[in-house]
Amino acid sequence: MAEKEDFYKVLGVNKDASKDEIKKAYRKLAIKYHPDKNPGDTAAEEQFKVATEAYEVLSDEDKRHKYDQFGHAAFGPGRGGGGAAGGFGGVDLEEALRTFMGAFGSGGGGGGGSIFENFFGGGGGGRESSNRGSDLRFDLEIDFEEAVFGSKRDLSYNVNVECESCGGEGAAPGSKKTTCSTCKGQGQVLTSNGLFHMRQTCPDCGGAGQVISNPCSQCRGTGQVKGKRSITVRIPPGVETGSRLRVKGKGEGGVMGGPAGDLYVIMHVKAHPIFERHDLDLIIELPVSFQTAALGGEVKVPTLEGTAKIKIPAGTQNGRMLRLKNKGVKDPRGYGHGDIHIRVLVEVPTHLHGKAKKLIQQIEDQLGEGQYPDQAKFSKESEAFANRREELEKLRNVKS
Ligand SMILES: [Zn+2]
Ligand SMILES: [Zn+2]
Repeated sequence: MAEKEDFYKVLGVNKDASKDEIKKAYRKLAIKYHPDKNPGDTAAEEQFKVATEAYEVLSDEDKRHKYDQFGHAAFGPGRGGGGAAGGFGGVDLEEALRTFMGAFGSGGGGGGGSIFENFFGGGGGGRESSNRGSDLRFDLEIDFEEAVFGSKRDLSYNVNVECESCGGEGAAPGSKKTTCSTCKGQGQVLTSNGLFHMRQTCPDCGGAGQVISNPCSQCRGTGQVKGKRSITVRIPPGVETGSRLRVKGKGEGGVMGGPAGDLYVIMHVKAHPIFERHDLDLIIELPVSFQTAALGGEVKVPTLEGTAKIKIPAGTQNGRMLRLKNKGVKDPRGYGHGDIHIRVLVEVPTHLHGKAKKLIQQIEDQLGEGQYPDQAKFSKESEAFANRREELEKLRNVKS
């Protein structure tokens, strides 16, 4: 919990900074650390996220007020469903980018600045051009350890890439595209149904305004060919099933010089024989002998860092939950660790022979009254049920 830096410090502003000062400070950091400007630099990405998180809180009057009163505790431990105060708890990269776009992307606050135009392909808030390649999805199966500790993976997949022979233009090398004669290069044609005139995309050039009279033989005029792409992705520690990693520009290639789409890597974490994961918490089913359960003792359990010893109290029943605090998965956003929950499974010997068998029979004789309260309660309730059933049977048999 204590690992988080003060939001004011993150942005480098005073506690009494105005809204404007906060926005300016965030903007400066966001430009510096923006992932588009620092491709593959995870430290910069982390800075970007941290700054965005600070900005999300300090730019919102209500959240800022809560933060001033309670600090980071105002937003809970940032697990799963989030804390009580509006469910705010850490941001992922996509969320950070959305916030950033929301704050500055839509031409915000005059003097938008050329930097943002460079970031987002210029003009009109940076919408994608129609010749941008499609995004791709890659489902990646990883094991428990990779999800918890992070990993690096080489991915290889089929993708449409720009045709080298024609440079993605679709026209045979040496030839040129010609202006579409149907629309005269306009990309649209005027149609009429007698009442209305309508503009429609030109059916001959598909709106491009140009046609290829001599198509490239390699790509048959599409500008793309099937190819294979191999990349290495870094899996950050703490991901879980459903986590998405966006790898910019590694989707389908663009057409006619358009930008490539993005690749989204979706994580699927395999089950582990010992640890069952729930968010940042881990559950272990720990088999314990019936002697230890009855007499108590100390048992070794595996943890993410090694092993820990846990005390089994005397008289532990099957299914009892014990806890190792802060031994769970580290929160990728820096909000500390989850816990390990240990479910005790009392194991009873199944092949008793000779002396051991006799000794257990002797235990039975030695045990006084009240050693098995659950059994006593159960037989009492069974008896009550039987009595009630008889009572009702009698009532039904009485003629009215
Ligand atoms: Zn080609
Ligand atoms: Zn046309």
